Amino acid sequence: MAERPRLVWSVALPVPLPRRFDYRPTDGHTVGPDDVGRRVRVPLGKRELVGVIAAVGPPEREEAELKAALELLDDTPLLAGELFDSLRWLSRYLHAPLGEVFATALPTLLRHGEALPDTRSWGWRLTEAGREATLRPGRPREFATRLGAGTVGEAELDETAAGWRAAARTLAARGLAERVEVASADAALPAEPGPELNDEQRVAVDAIVAEHAGFAALLLDGVTGSGKTEVYLNAIADCLARGRQALVLVPEIGLTPQTLARFRARLGVPVHALHSGLSDGERARTWAACLRGQARVVVGTRSAVFLPLPQAGLVVVDEEHDGSYKQLDGLRYHARDFALVRAKALGVPVVLGSATPSLESLRNAELGRYHHLRLTHRAGLARPPRVRVLDVRKRALHAGLSNELLEAIDAALAADGQALVFKNRRGYAPVLLCHDCGWNAQCARCSTPTHGSPMTVHAHGRRLQCHHCGARRPAPNACPDCGGLALQPQGAGTERIEELLGERFPDVPVLRIDRGTTQRRDALEQHLAGFGSGRGILVGTQMLAKGHDLPNLTLVAVVGIDEGLFSADFRAPEKLAQLLIQVSGRAGRAQRSGQVLLQTHHPGHPLLHILLEGGYHAFAEAELAQREAAGFPPFGHLALLRAEAQRIELADAFLKRAREALELSEVQLHGPLPAPMPRRAGYQRLQLLVSAPDRPSLHAALDLAIPTLYETPEARRVRWSLDVDPVDL
Ligand code: ADP
Ligand code: ZN
Ligand code: ZN
Repeated sequence: MAERPRLVWSVALPVPLPRRFDYRPTDGHTVGPDDVGRRVRVPLGKRELVGVIAAVGPPEREEAELKAALELLDDTPLLAGELFDSLRWLSRYLHAPLGEVFATALPTLLRHGEALPDTRSWGWRLTEAGREATLRPGRPREFATRLGAGTVGEAELDETAAGWRAAARTLAARGLAERVEVASADAALPAEPGPELNDEQRVAVDAIVAEHAGFAALLLDGVTGSGKTEVYLNAIADCLARGRQALVLVPEIGLTPQTLARFRARLGVPVHALHSGLSDGERARTWAACLRGQARVVVGTRSAVFLPLPQAGLVVVDEEHDGSYKQLDGLRYHARDFALVRAKALGVPVVLGSATPSLESLRNAELGRYHHLRLTHRAGLARPPRVRVLDVRKRALHAGLSNELLEAIDAALAADGQALVFKNRRGYAPVLLCHDCGWNAQCARCSTPTHGSPMTVHAHGRRLQCHHCGARRPAPNACPDCGGLALQPQGAGTERIEELLGERFPDVPVLRIDRGTTQRRDALEQHLAGFGSGRGILVGTQMLAKGHDLPNLTLVAVVGIDEGLFSADFRAPEKLAQLLIQVSGRAGRAQRSGQVLLQTHHPGHPLLHILLEGGYHAFAEAELAQREAAGFPPFGHLALLRAEAQRIELADAFLKRAREALELSEVQLHGPLPAPMPRRAGYQRLQLLVSAPDRPSLHAALDLAIPTLYETPEARRVRWSLDVDPVDL
């Protein structure tokens, strides 16, 4: 009789259950502590899944009942040390199954069980026999001649010798050529010097560098164009000189080829990029290169926060206030917050940079948890733009633009400058209205009797589209209710503004930038680069807040902010203030001075007033006082339980059940209440808000209640999710 193993693998699987699964090891394997963090392929029901060994120990149940794992996929732990521990922390913090956290952290190929990819660089050279052989004319001979002078890297061959692989195979089969590892082609690039730092930048760099021996959080609070990136570059150079790795997180829209080129040129080492535009293979290779310590600098978007950093020296989060750091579905993590956790676990400094820091970060700076570093003026010659409010009450508007604003555009163009018109609404018009009877086009899958969900007019009035569920249909020619022909698009989106500007300024290029024209990441950069520096007008949504520098942009016109002034979301003022400052920062980045016009029907609104009089920090201070009074973050702590179902009673029953479980703890509960979008794509949506004055009591309540919810019959009939620190309520 075979001896029974005393220890088993406790495996975290990517399934929505708050537990781990025990397996006997694969045949012949002796379970040991080194197994933790290695991937295994295991049976679960009728399926086969890839999971990560989370612990080893005696089985929880009778061993004889246990199935054996099918395959051990790694020779050494894939998730180890700090990363493993930080992910476990994240699982507890988000109250999410560990297997789902691991699955989110791993690149797709690794999650599916593929081997860690090869990240070495390879080249080809002739063997002894190859150097002496005389070859017949043909491809193999051409290839051999190419290798005559020594080893040639595969990257170079790919670029310069089409079809070389077949020739290489032929020669290798005859023992005439061989594949050898080579040093990475771009391992040592010349590093360009940067500008001489100004005093504030120097202070900031010194403060970061001084912390290199341990964890510290530094808030680099610097106006647009003040040279924050220069500060990062200097701090990273120091990190590299100490032989450590640096991770830089940037918002989705900030990772441009321009940014990467700047980092590469200045640091003199290869810079790895990680973003959603990469293939699965490239993502897995970057992950592996980080794990092996080959990648020294990585610039990446949200998910780059999960990269292994065995030799970490510095973490930077650029534009730390940016909303794209929070994942809004699946595992709802916040990359900035997790970057802080990782930096602490890694014992390295983390720099949070922004011209408009989040209220959370400002509060942490106020409390002394973060060093507060300030860059108060623009670097180089650029000066801050002049900002003016345009009161448009009772004024005639053309596609939402006032005459005064159009005249300002005219003046900017006449002075050979460029103008940017910012409107945070894409499409042609937000509503299609029947002027005879009042009918308007609503999305059938998103509206309810009490909550309308208008469809946006697109394609110059020919198409209707729902921005919530994606539904599309042709716009009707006649009113479906009264048969009248007086259907009129109401209001203006970017398409309509583009149309108007094209008519008004027929001899200058008008370029529209929104999700309709600019789906792909590099498209934004290409569009802006192609726009050139001559006269021209840009129209677009908040995509325009970032990207390619536009040195000839002298006028920024912001229209349609009024709805943002009166939103119910408690974060709306913060988001609006950040957006206004960021968009304004686009004006006058070079020698030419810039002007910003804010067009509004509410020129006396306190938000605009305080922002213009006192700037972002005065706004933030006032807003923090309001948050404190209301018990909102960063003073109170929130979690949001969402549920949706085709029948509202099911969602309601689930949240009532959750409420009962949470009522056992000392937390405040609000709901179940309709979600801000109470119906989307045919699903009825409710939510339950949990709030507590401090984190420990919030988490204690969730710890107690959430695990019990998984098994309830109500949970099986709804789609539900928990969002800790939600950003959209
Ligand atoms: P931020 O990241 O704060 O927006 P950047 O680092 O991109 O600012 O700097 C804005 C511009 O100013 C860039 O063109 C940069 O090269 C330039 N710059 C930054 N620091 C200096 C400096 N100390 N002297 C001269 N130019 C600088
Ligand atoms: Zn009608
Ligand atoms: Zn819809």
